Amino acid sequence: MTAFRWRAQARSGRARAGYLDTAHGTVATPTFMPVGTVGTVKAMTMDAVRSTGAGIVLGNTYHLMLRPGAERVRALGGLHRFMDWPGPILTDSGGFQVMSLGPLRKLDADGVTFRSHIDGSKHRLTPERSTDIQHALDATISMCFDECPALPAPAEAIAQSMRMSMRWAERCRTAFVARPGYAQYGIIQGGTEPQLRAESVRALTDIGFEGYAIGGLAVGEGQELMFSTLDVTVGLIPDDAPRYLMGVGTPDDLLGAVERGVDMFDCVMPTRAGRTARAYTERGTLNLRNARHATDSRPISPHCDCLACSRHSRAYLHHLFRANEMLGPMLLTWHNLAYYQRLMRGIRAAIVDGTLPEHAACLRAQWAMEDWSPDEMPFPDIPPVP
Ligand SMILES: [Zn+2]
Repeated sequence: MTAFRWRAQARSGRARAGYLDTAHGTVATPTFMPVGTVGTVKAMTMDAVRSTGAGIVLGNTYHLMLRPGAERVRALGGLHRFMDWPGPILTDSGGFQVMSLGPLRKLDADGVTFRSHIDGSKHRLTPERSTDIQHALDATISMCFDECPALPAPAEAIAQSMRMSMRWAERCRTAFVARPGYAQYGIIQGGTEPQLRAESVRALTDIGFEGYAIGGLAVGEGQELMFSTLDVTVGLIPDDAPRYLMGVGTPDDLLGAVERGVDMFDCVMPTRAGRTARAYTERGTLNLRNARHATDSRPISPHCDCLACSRHSRAYLHHLFRANEMLGPMLLTWHNLAYYQRLMRGIRAAIVDGTLPEHAACLRAQWAMEDWSPDEMPFPDIPPVP
């Protein structure tokens, strides 16, 4: 049986290239995990997801416990078989989604009671229940159930929330059933307060997890504060443990976070943008609904080997979105995930080659090019899931 571990291959400054060995295969890091919230990466077959080079995908406890139910997934052979993804799967604990329910949820020291956004039925999640559900789903990597306060918030409120999450982390760890090749990650909280982040890392490393996630960022604090929080947090995490920045982000966010030592990412941006006609390219984003693409016979990107770029024109994609044809979101999601995987492969290769500073400068210079009209820039704000 494979033991779960992260091993370094090369370093450049604080950036690391490495491998994550799991019960369900090895993933090269840094890596971007496509979001498969309800057991599907929206608009994609799993073969298409694989073809982009993705090595690990995400599932979500909150959504899967409500529908179809964790016990049903277990009875059907676990999430890997259920969704036809034999590779590693990381499941979010449900904490972020439950906390986003606002008036539909009631928080206490033991857990959260909430009403389903689907049918209003009443449910409860505790650290133990969330951990059990993730086990039932057969998640390769389970996440601790925690509270993620919206920013900005008073330091005292962030401190109290973080300390409760640390107590919950201990309960998650007790409930976790260790199996070879499987992992549970603790989630570092503490907002943008360096001393709270440090306290949170200490609490989690005292408990001891296979990996550590940085939670509570990309919730409206802005990139500068996110990066400065990473600067004071990532270096405190044990060097041999994988580091996962949750819910991030734009291509520029990913690059900056890898430079600060982060190994794993997930974000709905490439998939969600794909459903709304927005394409990521080496020179920023394109809105394919825009009339100026109507007669453009070029592919979205000449550097992309996805199905959309190898077989279709911008004009065809424009037409599909204008006609509300479902192939539009399918092709563009494929393209965007292919872009994100290509971006990560390029960054990873540059770390291994020792050329990360030059590569990063080149990426940033290209993103800064104003290749298209100002009304398509910058990338719009995207609201968080539940
Ligand atoms: Zn493409």
